[in-house]
Amino acid sequence: MAKKTSAKKPPATAKAKTTKPAAKAGAKKGAGARKYVYFFGHGKAEGSRHMKDLLGGKGSGLAEMTNAGLPVPPGLTISTEACTLYYEGGKKTPKVVDDQMIAALKKLEQTAGAALGSPDHPLLVSVRSGAKFSMPGMMDTILNLGLNDTTVEGLKARTGNGRFAYDSYRRFIQMFGNVVLEIPKSAFEHEFDGVKAERRARLDTDLDEAALKDVVARYKKVVRAKAGRGFPQDPLEQLRMSRDAVFRSWQNPRAKEYRRIYEIPDHIGTAVNVQMMVFGNTGNRSATGVGFTRNPANGAKEFYGEFLVNAQGEDVVAGIRTPQPIGELQSVLPQAYRELRQFTTRLEKHYKDVQDFEFTIQDERLYMLQTRSGKRTGYAAVVIATDLVKEKLVKPEEAVLLVDPESLSQLLSPIFDPAEWKKFAAVTRGLPASPGAASGQVVFTADRAVEWAQQGKKVVLVRKETVPDDIHGMFMAQGVLTATGGMTSHAAVVGRQMGKPSVVGAGELEVNERAQTITVAGRTLKEGDWLSFDGLSGEVKIGQVATQPSEILQVVAGQMKPEASDIFQRFNRLLTWADKVRRMGIRANADQPDQAETAYAFGARGIGLCRTEHMFFGEGRIPIVQRMILADNEKDRRKALDELLPLQRNDFYGVFKAMHGTPVTIRTIDPPLHEFLPKREDLMVEVAKLEVAGGNEQALAEKRKLLRRVEQLHEFNPMLGHRGVRLGITYPEITEMQTRAIIEAACMLAKEGVKCQPEIMIPLVGLVKELRDQAAIVHRVAAEVFKAQGVKVKYLVGTMIEVPRGSVTAGEIAAEAEFFSFGTNDLTQLTFGFSRDDIGKFLSVYQSKKILERDPFASLDTVGVGELVRMGCERGRQTRPDLKLGVCGEHGGDPSSIHFFEKVGLNYVSCSPYRVPVARLAAAQAALNVKVGD
Ligand code: ADP
Ligand code: MG
Ligand code: MG
Repeated sequence: MAKKTSAKKPPATAKAKTTKPAAKAGAKKGAGARKYVYFFGHGKAEGSRHMKDLLGGKGSGLAEMTNAGLPVPPGLTISTEACTLYYEGGKKTPKVVDDQMIAALKKLEQTAGAALGSPDHPLLVSVRSGAKFSMPGMMDTILNLGLNDTTVEGLKARTGNGRFAYDSYRRFIQMFGNVVLEIPKSAFEHEFDGVKAERRARLDTDLDEAALKDVVARYKKVVRAKAGRGFPQDPLEQLRMSRDAVFRSWQNPRAKEYRRIYEIPDHIGTAVNVQMMVFGNTGNRSATGVGFTRNPANGAKEFYGEFLVNAQGEDVVAGIRTPQPIGELQSVLPQAYRELRQFTTRLEKHYKDVQDFEFTIQDERLYMLQTRSGKRTGYAAVVIATDLVKEKLVKPEEAVLLVDPESLSQLLSPIFDPAEWKKFAAVTRGLPASPGAASGQVVFTADRAVEWAQQGKKVVLVRKETVPDDIHGMFMAQGVLTATGGMTSHAAVVGRQMGKPSVVGAGELEVNERAQTITVAGRTLKEGDWLSFDGLSGEVKIGQVATQPSEILQVVAGQMKPEASDIFQRFNRLLTWADKVRRMGIRANADQPDQAETAYAFGARGIGLCRTEHMFFGEGRIPIVQRMILADNEKDRRKALDELLPLQRNDFYGVFKAMHGTPVTIRTIDPPLHEFLPKREDLMVEVAKLEVAGGNEQALAEKRKLLRRVEQLHEFNPMLGHRGVRLGITYPEITEMQTRAIIEAACMLAKEGVKCQPEIMIPLVGLVKELRDQAAIVHRVAAEVFKAQGVKVKYLVGTMIEVPRGSVTAGEIAAEAEFFSFGTNDLTQLTFGFSRDDIGKFLSVYQSKKILERDPFASLDTVGVGELVRMGCERGRQTRPDLKLGVCGEHGGDPSSIHFFEKVGLNYVSCSPYRVPVARLAAAQAALNVKVGD
């Protein structure tokens, strides 16, 4: 789990920069110039836990366990740099690496008292993949290497166990055949099942030596037939081929897909571990297994895992035989069990985190084969972190580093009953925009969503895309599913702000809004059919699936007492620790009092962005707003604005009050006015209908007037059009009204003795004169209000920095602005020239071609857009050292962007209310400069 955030690091990190050229240099200088192979064994290892970049997670864990005196079979780790060289050399391992491997192998042979290929003391090894970030099951591992027709007899003679020797050999041929020679597993399984059937064997373990010899003979035939060559008998050849195959497995489609999903960089490569074999398949006093020091699903402090007697390697996870719960090991092999408990407890203490371990017991002797931080759910992560503090294993500031901020959102969302969810097959997958489980009857319009929801139905709103006036429908729906749009499309942003499960950009959905049908995976759904989707995974399923509400949300909403919820208390404790560590403030983007209350309850101490226009969509307001827009003179416009004034004042009053005296940044009107009017096409249809029907002249005249105005306001590129400060400059009376509403609300509260800190923010400023113009209006109106009210309130005037010119001229703008808030959504749009609503059409291609690693609207492009942020900060602070700096784009809630904002020294980040916990934790980790998982 922890890997996700850490892996988000762009490829050009300092580390990558230093290791890569060095690796090349080493190759040029030849042997001895650079170390590619690290030995471990005899209680001493050349590597350590701090060398994950070079040795991979597995290699560094083996080294660390060896140094800690745990029983680890000796071996050597070939570094990730060697993998890079392998690829740079056109899929060839350079001689320098091979030489070092042979040298280390000699040492291994001495340590083991056995030699590769020796007829009487054959050394057998495993060849194991292992990258910096664990990619379970994605890459390949080969066991029992070193066996051939001669050494198998040597193994038999030494152990007096022919069954075991041939079982090991057949396993080796199968793994080697599959991984190195790329022969499908099924070809081997077919033969194996054939022998089992002939011998009437139920289990693999029922086969005796003679049967296994038969299997070996058949496997060798499979190899000859499928690979066009005999099974290689030379152990060194086996080793070289296996090593290179493991390097290659870094680029298999599975591994690539895994890296894409978890944003693991492609260039880091895998290490290869060559390790002396120990055997869990020598008989009933032997076993192999895997486990966790705590339950990774719910965090409970319990020994967790499974094992199989008389088995090897993958048998446990492969599901060939049903493994036994680890607790039963106590009675089967008590001594080994005791040691295992002891060692893993030590490892947990040593690593100060839950460990996921692999072990093998050979003739009652326990060997540790792997340890790593266990992946866990968000729920388990919080439970474990708080438990470890209680047990005094870690300090609170260390516990803050044990939870992936992103995973906290899992704790907030309703979840599907996992057993139920499994019963349905996914029909498609979209972008997981807002986590949570949604299950409901399909509706295609916001109005229908409201209507049905009011009848007590559960609905999911399915749209091609959503627009601002769908908000009411989104609010009533269990979740929102769209066919187009990216992670910051409207549906996604609003979905997150509402904490509404949302899946967007599910491109395989054919949404026919007219016919009111969806077609997907060959099935057609109509209104009222049940659909379910998971906003965390993006999976969509047809049918109704039961959900469970999140306790934390119930507490935040005041529906449950904090004392009644254990998970809430832990969540709260963890975040309180995080608050002590972080430097940056956390604010929320909230437009209405109820959202502000939620944000405050989640720990936001301020509003970074209150979008006044969202209030215009409130009940009964749209007609007034439309009257304001339709006015063709200032007088009429002011009349409409006068009607809006008390409504806005009320909103601001509520928001201020909900924020208990913390700063509230209110942005003056931003979107182009046409967004408040009906769609041109719809109006044209209505006018045409009225014309045909004759009748009501007045209605027709009104519609025609509306249509004319809509056509006047029509813009070719509304995002670059008449919006933001441009509106305030052309219609100063709007800025006046909004200022008046803000300041009057503040004065009302002042009179009630309630503290508030308004910050008035002018959007889209690129010219200092734009801001000067608007600031003058604000100051004038504020002075008027103070005079009329007989009270004064402290307020600030500032701007959003969201057009590149604003960043470049930040020095000038800061002369007029008391604060900057970086609007990184628009700044990203304008820096790239990508429209955030249209990026969905090409983003996936950009990502698959590695032109862009990540969606720049979800995670800040630190190189380009970030540079503008940095420049804005520096230039702004030069002019005004105490300039308040914040960010209010979607990036304010993204952990890796938060690390960047910490570095440039912002005062606060602001994000959706439901992202506040994520931001609190991420800001703490940023202050400690640690990315979880590194
Ligand atoms: P993965 O990364 O897929 O878990 P591993 O390299 O950990 O692959 O190998 C899988 C399993 O193979 C291990 O859990 C262990 O049971 C077995 N294995 C690997 N190396 C050895 C070894 N030297 N001796 C015995 N078993 C081994
Ligand atoms: Mg493993
Ligand atoms: Mg903007």
